[in-house]
Amino acid sequence: MKKHFETEAIRTQMERSQYAEHSAPLYLTSSFVFEDAEELRAAFADEFDRNIYSRFTNPNTEELVDKICTLEGAEEGIAFASGMAAVFASFAALLSSGDHVVSARSIFGSTHSLFTKYFNKWNIETTYFNANTPQEVETVIQPNTKIIYIETPTNPGLDVLDMEYLSEVAKNNNILLVVDNCFATPYLQKPIVFGADLVIHSATKLIDGQGRVLGGLIVGESDLINEIRPFFRNSGSALSPFNAWVLSKSIETLAVRLDRHCENALALSKHLENQPKICKVKYPFLTSHPQYEIAKKQMLKGGNIVTFELKEGIKAAQVFLNQIQMCSLSANLGDTRTIVTHPATSTHSKLSIEERALVGITDGLIRLSVGLENIEDIKQDIDQALEKI
Ligand SMILES: *Cc1c(COP(=O)(O)O)cnc(C)c1O
Repeated sequence: MKKHFETEAIRTQMERSQYAEHSAPLYLTSSFVFEDAEELRAAFADEFDRNIYSRFTNPNTEELVDKICTLEGAEEGIAFASGMAAVFASFAALLSSGDHVVSARSIFGSTHSLFTKYFNKWNIETTYFNANTPQEVETVIQPNTKIIYIETPTNPGLDVLDMEYLSEVAKNNNILLVVDNCFATPYLQKPIVFGADLVIHSATKLIDGQGRVLGGLIVGESDLINEIRPFFRNSGSALSPFNAWVLSKSIETLAVRLDRHCENALALSKHLENQPKICKVKYPFLTSHPQYEIAKKQMLKGGNIVTFELKEGIKAAQVFLNQIQMCSLSANLGDTRTIVTHPATSTHSKLSIEERALVGITDGLIRLSVGLENIEDIKQDIDQALEKI
């Protein structure tokens, strides 16, 4: 019988070794040995499943992949050294020169850089659509479009895209829908249920949840994963077994962490709505969010990211950042520690001013990754910094 999310997250485990350990051991080995010439030959001929070399598979990365597949409802998956390695591999393996990608304009900065700075030179073109008016997607699809690419909620715009609608458009046009599920994790949202073909994660964020290791994941149907796998094996972006071990442990507490992250973020977003120095608070589960209804349909809770805009723009943002005492000034997100970021001068600084304006990244925009500290202490730190503006 299929068990509940929390149980699967804890009980999906590799087989115990002869030592009968309770917690999964760490297999720091670059290669594996064979009994004889026949076993060596058969293993390389893919006649049976076994570990050969840790750039291909390792018990720790396999455990992590099994776990994320179970939680996302996917058939197969691959673990990568980082979220960007996963993003890059999905495009590099599935696209050819002359293909076209349709992407929501509001996406992670490095993904945007791949589209604008590198794909052109391989003759892969990208057309953006506005995440707030997703119907635009139907007008930008071309005969050579192979992938619709989205994040939901988006970074840092927090736009919520209707995956059910987009997957229908994708299916009608014989295109793949690829969803970066980094902001929600499978605990809050399972894109495959809404028709996504591939789901990508930066495991660095909420999946680790403690700001320690980098990691990336792709999961989906076997056919697609098997198209990506040879590129992955030959291009060397394997996740280290140590990081896989850390991430697999982290997932054991994903649900309880996310419950508190979301509770804190919702409380903080409501608190900030009453702040006179702020003009726009955005959080998927605030009724004022433009796609509140879609967020409710797709997501269990609203996630841990809250954004707000300071009325007095860049000057106010700089004062605010400099006055923060407890929260961390960092570009990461999804940590136990609350993190304050100014996207215009950090994560999205490589975009032009015009590109930033199109995705709502104003000079006064602040992104909060709400952590697991006591909510009163988080509020207090943010309030005292706001008072100094
Ligand atoms: C951080 C992030 C990535 C990239 O992940 P890394 O692990 O830093 O390579 C991709 N997508 C989103 C939405 C992210 O927030």
